[in-house]
Amino acid sequence: MHPETVIIGGGFAGLQACRALARDSIGVLLIDPRPGPVMLPALPDVAGGWVPERITHRPFNEILPTNVVHLPWSVSAIDLDAGTVVADGETIAYRQLLIAAGSVPNFYDSPFPRDRLYPLGTLEDALRIRQDFAAYLRETDHPHVLVSGTGYTGLELAMSLFFRAKAAGKPCRVTIVDPTPILLPSLPDRQRRYVLDFLVSQGAEVRLGVAVESFDGRRAVAGGQPYDDIFYCWAAGSTFAVPELKGNVERLRDGRLKVAADLSLPGYPHVFAAGDSAAINRNGQALRKAVNFAYYGGRHAGRNLARQRAGRPTRPFHPVDLGWIVPFHATSIGRLPGNLWIRGPLGVRLHHLMCGLRNYSFKNFAGCLQLALNPNKGKKP
Ligand SMILES: Cc1cc2nc3c(=O)[nH]c(=O)nc-3n(C[C@H](O)[C@H](O)[C@H](O)COP(=O)(O)OP(=O)(O)OC[C@H]3O[C@@H](n4cnc5c(N)ncnc54)[C@H](O)[C@@H]3O)c2cc1C
Repeated sequence: MHPETVIIGGGFAGLQACRALARDSIGVLLIDPRPGPVMLPALPDVAGGWVPERITHRPFNEILPTNVVHLPWSVSAIDLDAGTVVADGETIAYRQLLIAAGSVPNFYDSPFPRDRLYPLGTLEDALRIRQDFAAYLRETDHPHVLVSGTGYTGLELAMSLFFRAKAAGKPCRVTIVDPTPILLPSLPDRQRRYVLDFLVSQGAEVRLGVAVESFDGRRAVAGGQPYDDIFYCWAAGSTFAVPELKGNVERLRDGRLKVAADLSLPGYPHVFAAGDSAAINRNGQALRKAVNFAYYGGRHAGRNLARQRAGRPTRPFHPVDLGWIVPFHATSIGRLPGNLWIRGPLGVRLHHLMCGLRNYSFKNFAGCLQLALNPNKGKKP
């Protein structure tokens, strides 16, 4: 196989790149093992059974431009010097490449039994949590959710499950642990205190500077304290999604590829990266992993691929920070443009609205809008 332009990953970044390339009728090969993109920010609510999964995704064959061929394979290796990728055992040479494979949960070589851990990186993870947590609630009299990781995924998931248990009439203990000493380190002190107070007011136990030392599938020990019969959610970090990458590129500790201003890889002008795969430098720091940066970065990378094909110079990417919202089921914390802080139920509504606006069909948008107008009413999935 020798396609001209290859895109790895059709999530927020890859899909926008495909759309940007549609205008130039360039033949594009999109490699992604999934049948279609997923609204990842809705996953904690899908896991808790608050958001129906049907409004979180749509198949590629309904949304890809006609010049894009979707290959439902997984890329296991990229060789930048050879100009090839390996997918499902087959080597594919490219002329131009966009790496937009997102990120996957990082298990840090943990020895804990993987089938008893609950990460949250895909729709399947969310559906597995939803199903297993419902069974767990039926089986146990004193449910206890243990979460490793105090990033937004861990906290959102903890609260989504906490309120699910409450709605089922089974009050649930929640323990959140993290070896680092700070909860949500990117927040200013006052906002962090707000989140912590909310978690504690709901009865959550937050143990910072504490790691889980052992876990045998049911019983964990963290900071010397044993926890029996737990439902253990793993949200301890994420890493680059392609297992092997050969080439002379600079990377962050989480595997992200340091890109030049036009999103190409220094030394590899025909290779671009966007979304969670890319480390985009702004004021000396890498941009956080977020939907909007992936969405606009992917679109920009696609336009630069088209410019390059047409023999025109590429352009630098100027990311605009549109802010963020972290919903904790009943309340939220967020920052809107203009450094405007938002807290409480309004942020939950805005979160559902954003999931609708960035979604893949009018039907999905309408479903999210309904949630924005009437959030967290204990709907069955
Ligand atoms: C649970 C959760 C909640 C989140 N909440 C928020 C939020 O509220 N707000 C926010 O801004 N951001 C949120 N994020 C982060 C946000 O979803 C990501 O920053 C964004 O999805 C990155 O877009 P992307 O296109 O780089 O990757 P993705 O959207 O993850 O897409 C990557 C695509 O690559 C494919 N892929 C993966 N590996 C391979 C491979 N080896 N070969 C081929 N294809 C591959 C995947 O199947 C996927 O389709 C959340 C993420 C998670 C997991």
